[in-house]
Amino acid sequence: MRTFEELESAVRSYSRGWPTVFTKAKGYKLWDTDEKEYIDFFAGAGTLNYGHNDNAMQQKMIEYIQSDGIIHSLDMGTTPRKDFLERFKEVILTPRNLDYKIMFPGPTGTNTVESALKIARKVTGRETVISFTNAFHGMTIGSLSVTGNSFKRRGAGIPLHHSVSMPFDNYVDGHDSIVYLERFLEDSGSGVALPAAIILETVQGEGGINAARMDWLKKVEELCKRWDILLIIDDVQAGNGRTGTFFSFEPAGIDPDIVCLSKSIGGIGLPMAITLIKPEHDIWGPGEHNGTFRGNNLAFITAAEALKNWENDEFSKAVQEKGDFLKKAVEMLIEKYPELNGEARGRGLMQGIAIGKEGLASDICAEAFKRGLIVETSGPDDEVVKFLPPLIIDEEGLEKGLQLLEDSIQHVLN
Ligand code: PMP
Repeated sequence: MRTFEELESAVRSYSRGWPTVFTKAKGYKLWDTDEKEYIDFFAGAGTLNYGHNDNAMQQKMIEYIQSDGIIHSLDMGTTPRKDFLERFKEVILTPRNLDYKIMFPGPTGTNTVESALKIARKVTGRETVISFTNAFHGMTIGSLSVTGNSFKRRGAGIPLHHSVSMPFDNYVDGHDSIVYLERFLEDSGSGVALPAAIILETVQGEGGINAARMDWLKKVEELCKRWDILLIIDDVQAGNGRTGTFFSFEPAGIDPDIVCLSKSIGGIGLPMAITLIKPEHDIWGPGEHNGTFRGNNLAFITAAEALKNWENDEFSKAVQEKGDFLKKAVEMLIEKYPELNGEARGRGLMQGIAIGKEGLASDICAEAFKRGLIVETSGPDDEVVKFLPPLIIDEEGLEKGLQLLEDSIQHVLN
């Protein structure tokens, strides 16, 4: 008899790092079949910014199901869809003076990226897209073609075309990588094709919590404007408040042409994605880009409920304060344990420690799991311990998690 794990394809990954069977979760905690408690510093890779099983979101779903609300509706008009769209405009777009059309590209992150890459090509009539070293944009062929991770790219088994990878900010020691980008675009007159778009994460999540500087982002935007290239911000992981503001690019004062959101946009962890498109680029006619699961009404309900957190500044301020607290704690650990050869990275509640000794980050995460902390590595060599706690975590949760982390560090260093 095959165990349930053997029944699954060898491609499964997370269950290997956390070899247990989880049963339930609330807020920033999970439990397994042995009723062992875990603190969640992972939040479904940034999908559970509002925590597990938020009471109000649960209640709204229950009421809707019990009233025979329509569950599946393709892209037909429904009350939850209408309510979500109106609230998104009222709470997110209008106060930020942003003008976007909202598209539902399909249920996941890679769907929003695919739609962005596709519409940018149609708008500009150009073929290539510039992306950055260590970027992660998804696993389907288009989004994989702009993903700067050779292991993941090799999964396609074929060369992936029409993508140009440039060094991300802070990537090239001692050089400002913007110079490379500028030079490349200047060369476009001499036989190098101008790209349709530049796609980037302001903080690379899977790529190792590399946070771009605000002035670097501003310069990328300037170059896009100068060369008439569309700027796509992939805010799938860094958006939805993860860095302290709803959109991760807000402090940079940039105005992207296209924004990709998924993961926590659904509020409670239900699959949902949206692509925000400047009205002048919204050129697809009806049905020119479609998909069956673009109308998840349960997700619209929990997404609309989640947006209540953004009706005033309190939620955002709290995330920034908790982010500062986490950053200080991470810096203290780095100072206390020089053997880690560590470097603090990140913004808001998207933080990490890059560890200068091979294999140590994975060992720390494995030990943390045994002690009841869910924490993951990221970066090209899995060299970064990455912290993405739910944004609703309180100080007690952060302290508890940090203590388990420190115990794990001590254990692996001894
Ligand atoms: N973009 C970014 C920045 C991501 O972090 C991810 C997922 N980790 C994706 C796109 C792809 O999302 P999904 O796994 O939902 O397709």
